Amino acid sequence: MIRFPLTAAEAKGEGELRAGGTDLQDLRHRGIRSGPITDLRDVQGLDAITDDLRIGSLVKIADLGRDLRLPPLIRKAANGLATPQIRAVATLGGNLLQRTRCWYFRSREFDCFKKGGTSCPAREGIANRHALFDRGPCISVHASTLGLAFLAYDAVAHFEGGPDRSIAEVYGDGSDPTRDHAVQAGEVLVGVSIRDAIPGEKGGYLRAIARAEAEWPIVEAGVRLWFEGERIAGARVVAGAVAGVPLRLPAVEQRLLGELANEATFARAAAVSIEGANPVPDSAFKVDFLPAVILSALERAMEA
Ligand SMILES: Cc1cc2nc3c(=O)[nH]c(=O)nc-3n(C[C@H](O)[C@H](O)[C@H](O)COP(=O)(O)OP(=O)(O)OC[C@H]3O[C@@H](n4cnc5c(N)ncnc54)[C@H](O)[C@@H]3O)c2cc1C
Repeated sequence: MIRFPLTAAEAKGEGELRAGGTDLQDLRHRGIRSGPITDLRDVQGLDAITDDLRIGSLVKIADLGRDLRLPPLIRKAANGLATPQIRAVATLGGNLLQRTRCWYFRSREFDCFKKGGTSCPAREGIANRHALFDRGPCISVHASTLGLAFLAYDAVAHFEGGPDRSIAEVYGDGSDPTRDHAVQAGEVLVGVSIRDAIPGEKGGYLRAIARAEAEWPIVEAGVRLWFEGERIAGARVVAGAVAGVPLRLPAVEQRLLGELANEATFARAAAVSIEGANPVPDSAFKVDFLPAVILSALERAMEA
């Protein structure tokens, strides 16, 4: 059943929500999802960005990439993901709440925790796009690039049908193998607020990717830096495609605080990003990728 237009309040509790449809339709084509749909596309008032940086959940990714009111990390992450065609259609809400790209989850041939099964076939199978930080029975990685960017702002997600909560709370700690996020059926994400953007902050985003575009990253990283004089006064460092949720890396941030922003500082900080890594053999190569991607993201932040 497809009904529109709806208000966000009417949309909650109906069929599975569809925003841009770029992820949901793929799952339906593969037979992983089925059943009624409630289209969000004509819900009014969810496609605006306000001056105090509240972003409606139906704002297109392409619009995030070009809005100069948004801090550099958000714009760079938005411009760096997927393809121009996807970015023109896909939304902030759909990106944050998309399902994992794990090929076992997306194949009808395999059962897994996220489809009601009792095992993670990646553990016995091909897992070179899987977790570097193994935090639970499922070793798929979270797919949302915007998830890591908004995590770097400790952004607040607003819901119809549920309480406001931080992006970190939206994702949880990644230990529940059945979920990609903690949003419940009947909750509609209506917007996300950035509350701690620092005037003049620098931001960098980089991904290691197997081809030039139209691919999910092997590893991706976002950084924010702000300064007092020449010294780093604050830092946020986040990584994606390394765990079941986007990860903030406080140990890396700590190494940057009070330091001069130069290559030696960045290399020392990036090196600690793999503390606690516990990959399966197939994904162990990511141990080399993560520090390199963070180092380059830090250097790129200083170029802007
Ligand atoms: C070739 C290719 C490369 C890609 N590379 C990347 C990449 O590098 N990084 C990345 O992040 N993504 C990547 N993607 C994925 C793409 O960004 C997502 O498909 C897209 O962001 C989903 O947005 P959507 O609006 O189409 O979501 P939909 O498909 O409409 O929805 C996705 C999910 O979110 C739920 N949902 C949507 N809106 C709401 C809401 N307001 N409230 C509650 N639930 C909601 C839906 O029910 C559904 O479960 C890639 C896709 C392709 C095809």
